[in-house]
Amino acid sequence: MRTDLINSHIRTSAHSHISFFYLCPMHIDIISVLPELLESPFAHSILKRAKEKNLLEVRVHPLRQWAINEYGQVDDYQYGGGAGMVMMCEPLAKAIESLSEKTTYDEIIYMTPDGELFNQKTANHFSLKNNLLIICGHYKGIDERIREHFITKEISIGDYVLSGGELPAAVLVDAIGRLIPGVLNDETSALFDSFQDNLLAPPVYTRPADFRGWKVPEILLSGDPRKIEEWRNEQSQIRTSKRRPDIQHE
Ligand code: SAH
Repeated sequence: MRTDLINSHIRTSAHSHISFFYLCPMHIDIISVLPELLESPFAHSILKRAKEKNLLEVRVHPLRQWAINEYGQVDDYQYGGGAGMVMMCEPLAKAIESLSEKTTYDEIIYMTPDGELFNQKTANHFSLKNNLLIICGHYKGIDERIREHFITKEISIGDYVLSGGELPAAVLVDAIGRLIPGVLNDETSALFDSFQDNLLAPPVYTRPADFRGWKVPEILLSGDPRKIEEWRNEQSQIRTSKRRPDIQHE
C-alpha cells in the first residue's frame, strides 16, 4: 500500500504540480446539526496549516438551514415506536441536493457505527479524491431512505457508539488531511507512520540520550543511516508481531 500511495501522490504532484497545490485544494463539505463541535478540530496544527497553504478546504454546513419549519426541526419520532428521534429525510435530501449543485462529489459519506471500519487504507484512498461530502448523524441516526438513495460510503471509526457523527467526521478529515502532499512538512513522513505497509511504527526517542539512567538505544546515536534503517525495520516487525499480528500478513 505504501508504494501505491507514493506512486499515486507522486503522479498527482508531478503532473499538475502548480494546479494541485494552488488552484485545486481538496474540498470537504460536512453537514451537521451541531457545527460548533467542528470549529476547533480544524482550527489548529496540521489542518490549520493545510488550510493556510490552500491544500485543503473544509466547510461545515449547519443542517438547520434546511429545516422543515421555522422552529428548525430536522428530526422526528420513529415509525413503529420506541425511544429516540430520527433525522428526517427532507432536510438531509435538500442539503445534499443543494450542495451537489455546486460540487460534484467523489463520495457522499455517512458516519455510522454500522459502516465499514475506517483504517489507513481507506484514508489513503480518500486522500486522492477532490471532493467529499460527509454527513454527521445524531440521535438514532438518519432515515434509512437517505442512506439508500444518496449515500455512497458508510464509515465507522470503531466498534463503539458515540452521540454524534461530528467527532468521527473530524477523525476522518484529520487522517485524510495529513496525507495530502505538502500538508506535512516532510512529505514522506506520513508514509512511514503505523499501518502503511501493514506495519506499526518503530519506537522513537529524543534528547536527552540518558534520562534518569534510561538510555536511548546505542544504534540511534551511531550516525550510521543504513544500520539505523535496519534497526527501525526490525523494531517495526517485532512490534507488529507482538501487538498486531493480524495486520502483518494482510
Ligand atoms: N442507533 C445507532 C447509533 C446512532 S449514534 C446505532 O445503533 O447504530 C448517533 C450518530 O453518531 C450516528 O448517526 C453516527 O453519525 C454517529 N456515530 C456514532 N458512533 C459512530 C461510530 N463508531 N462511527 C461513526 N459514526 C458514529
